Amino acid sequence: MEKVICPNCKGNGYLRLAFEAEEVIEQCKVCKSQGELNSEEHFHQSWQEPDSQMRTIYFGPPLDPDSGFPDYKIEPNDEEKQ
Ligand SMILES: [Zn+2]
Repeated sequence: MEKVICPNCKGNGYLRLAFEAEEVIEQCKVCKSQGELNSEEHFHQSWQEPDSQMRTIYFGPPLDPDSGFPDYKIEPNDEEKQ
């Protein structure tokens, strides 16, 4: 099975969030701290086209945010509820 780098955490498995002076480490929910995603798994993703008022919504395999998706966001799949 092919793996791709998680675009949400850039392969780190966690996110560094800054809250005022505090820095908080949050585990990445998209890849479940794995740092990579199954390239065949489908995710809800969206981005802002520069010439559009609306965000483009896409559901499919993970995209590469560096290949032209401004303000790219990927949503965690929560099929497996805790
Ligand atoms: Zn991740």
